[in-house]
Amino acid sequence: MLLEGKVALVTGAGSGIGAAAARLMAKEGAKIGALGRTESELDKVVKQIKKAGGEAITLVADTSEPEAMEKATQQLVKAYGRLDIVVPNAGINGVWAPLEDLTPEDWDKTLTINLKGTFLSVKYAIPHLKKRGGSVVIVASINGTRTFTSAGATAYSCSKAGQVAFAKMAAVELGQHKIRVNVVCPGAIDTLIDENTEKINTEKAEVPVEFPEGDIPLTKGEPGSAKQVADLILFLASDQASHISGTEVWIDGGQSLLR
Ligand code: NAD
Repeated sequence: MLLEGKVALVTGAGSGIGAAAARLMAKEGAKIGALGRTESELDKVVKQIKKAGGEAITLVADTSEPEAMEKATQQLVKAYGRLDIVVPNAGINGVWAPLEDLTPEDWDKTLTINLKGTFLSVKYAIPHLKKRGGSVVIVASINGTRTFTSAGATAYSCSKAGQVAFAKMAAVELGQHKIRVNVVCPGAIDTLIDENTEKINTEKAEVPVEFPEGDIPLTKGEPGSAKQVADLILFLASDQASHISGTEVWIDGGQSLLR
């Protein structure tokens, strides 16, 4: 097992990529702190993990709230005695709209949950990660890192670009403590995130782009699965990636090379 004896905090663990990563890391021996806002979703994932013979606890917290994140991190360390891996994955697409229609409140909400949430997820874990070294695997996106054609997704893209800058700064700062920090940048992945996207007049921000055939070369346009992203998160979290830090890995079937 790749993560035997380790303890991992996964944010946004109630669905999609976070749930897949929590389940997979538990299968590989990690005890999981499944953090999110929706208790019922998290409980379901924790139940699945336990049924499969793993260990996990539910941590209800909003990643953008410092006090709640500090408390949840302490709760996890109290339960399992240590913390080795952090996966800041919770995120929203938020409002996608032309800049003139995007409100300051829309901007703040997306940046606060996606970027400040990443900072807080890592910040309160650092004292614990420092004890034995550790691994942080941040879930960003092709948007803002290689792709700049998702009309109206400016706040989202800036939050995702910010996560990559954050990872690189943190990798340099925390390397001396044997803490590795990396980023995965998924393309289209089949999860619930699209259902939570509010699109307003995005056609006004659109510039037509034509592709020869589909937009994901490897799959003829089919999205990837959360499990495929979880496989990458597992690799980066494990000692198999012991010399990898401060880097982003795109996982998109080549999608971002076309758009
Ligand atoms: P999802 O909506 O299924 O999962 C996101 C989870 O985060 C949900 O469980 C939600 O409750 C939780 N969450 C949202 N805001 C939160 C907050 N403030 N505090 C705590 N939890 C919060 O979507 P997903 O696709 O699994 O998204 C996971 C990550 O992957 C996101 O950061 C997203 O930007 C990124 N991503 C997804 C795709 C895709 O196509 N699905 C592509 C690129 C990047």
